[in-house]
Amino acid sequence: MGPTRIQHDGVLIVGTGLAGLSAALACAPARALVLAAQPLFKGSSSAWAQGGIAAALGPGDHPSIHAADTVTAGAGLVDASVADDITRRAVAAVERLAKLGAPFDKDAKGHFALNLEAAHAFPRVARVKGDGAGRAIMEAVIAAAMADPNIEIRTGVSLKALLQDASGRVRGVLAKTTSGLVEFVAPATILATGGLGGLYAVTTNPRELRGEGLAAAALAGADIADPEFVQFHPTAIDIGADPAPLATETLRGAGARLIDKDGHPFMAAYHARAELAARDIVARAIHRQRADGLGAFLDAREAVGAAFPERFPAVFAACMAAAIDPRKTPIPVAPAVHYHMGGIAADTHGRTSLPGLFAAGECAATGLHGANRLASNSLLEAAVCGQLAGEAAREIKDPGTPPLPVAPPPELPDRALATLREAMSRDAGVIRDAEGLTRLIGEIDALEAQYGRALPLVTARLIATASLARHESRGGQYRSDFPTMDGSPHRTLINLNDPKAEAAA
Ligand SMILES: Cc1cc2nc3c(=O)[nH]c(=O)nc-3n(C[C@H](O)[C@H](O)[C@H](O)COP(=O)(O)OP(=O)(O)OC[C@H]3O[C@@H](n4cnc5c(N)ncnc54)[C@H](O)[C@@H]3O)c2cc1C
Repeated sequence: MGPTRIQHDGVLIVGTGLAGLSAALACAPARALVLAAQPLFKGSSSAWAQGGIAAALGPGDHPSIHAADTVTAGAGLVDASVADDITRRAVAAVERLAKLGAPFDKDAKGHFALNLEAAHAFPRVARVKGDGAGRAIMEAVIAAAMADPNIEIRTGVSLKALLQDASGRVRGVLAKTTSGLVEFVAPATILATGGLGGLYAVTTNPRELRGEGLAAAALAGADIADPEFVQFHPTAIDIGADPAPLATETLRGAGARLIDKDGHPFMAAYHARAELAARDIVARAIHRQRADGLGAFLDAREAVGAAFPERFPAVFAACMAAAIDPRKTPIPVAPAVHYHMGGIAADTHGRTSLPGLFAAGECAATGLHGANRLASNSLLEAAVCGQLAGEAAREIKDPGTPPLPVAPPPELPDRALATLREAMSRDAGVIRDAEGLTRLIGEIDALEAQYGRALPLVTARLIATASLARHESRGGQYRSDFPTMDGSPHRTLINLNDPKAEAAA
């Protein structure tokens, strides 16, 4: 028996994170049907965000300075017009979230209380109860979406493939539900499926995030941009947990130092901005310290001390659960996959290279982040571009064309996924080289020969092949065999329908 078909007369959205629900809230008067694999709050990085959302809200700050910091962090690959556009919309986006009920911290005068994070020229990260921004923002956004009669949310629905008509136009998605395969057909589809940390053995992301939206879009022939640029958070708490809990960047903004096992601060030897250098620099320094057996610890005893439970409750709880009291003991840290700068090529309104398909949030690559995301710009992008994608998608008229049947991709068994995750962390990690990347592609070939072209393998291959093809070190990609930056910055653009992209396919 073939899949059941559900015809939706509005916008179809995959993902209930900040991008997906921001899109849904912007769809009216069109109806929004939102699908997600996991229950609300689960399997979504949005609810896990700690630091907050960046916007030029403070005295002396301006969107143009925020845009300039974004461009600098992105190591030559940020699209300046996109940075300009999104940073100009940032203050309104934060105010919109506050209006929905997100309880941002305020100072005595009622202004937003702002954190300073690495590579930002000003304190500009709006926070909630210290490190609880993601949860609190998502509580407000989810409550608004659930109260909106235009929005229907269905969880337990896993995206497997995109439906297309004979012209290639996207007509919806094929998804697995508890009652079998279902074709959800709609005039416009927005992918908001988040990142891909679950492809790696060490990640701060929910394990379920494996870049499956990106893979489905790539297989349908959408342009994919910059898949090699994966950001490693320098300070995941190293207690062997999967996923690894995060010690937010704000701790370093608050003065916490990185020290080795003998208690010596080491960051000044790597960069003039020391603890506040860009993420990739700090991540590589910590990687190197650990590889050299010197260890890496985040020491917040002096900078935060007794205020830890109140100022950083989530980090405090994670440490205490591992019997580490951060008021008295430095926190062991290691880099972990945190964010994907690459993704489905899209403009700020989510428009992709395929008609009928939109992408927003972490699964999209708008050009905002370039080779390296500036901290706290991702919630911002999810809120701004999610909303713009919803507004653009609601205008799409039903073309009335029938979707062609599509076969669901094979599933990757848990054992094979574990093999892939280990191989990705080993060979497409903080430091890469041709030998490791070639070995990784061989591993992906072997898994594909055994299990077929499962979605996680498609995304992993895109990362590995693009990384191998980029003969330089830039932003999130460090190649020990090409340690310098190329003089002519270029973005990667891959289309699996292009015969020249055979190596990536
Ligand atoms: C621990 C942590 C802390 C962070 N802190 C910050 C911060 O302070 N500031 C900041 O700006 N950014 C932060 N980030 C990054 C930021 O949270 C994310 O980039 C952002 O929330 C992504 O939002 P999104 O809506 O695109 O995706 P997500 O919120 O990750 O949502 C993805 C959605 O897609 C669904 N999905 C995925 N695959 C499928 C599938 N195959 N089928 C159906 N549904 C699917 C998921 O179930 C989920 O609903 C942090 C990330 C982490 C992990």
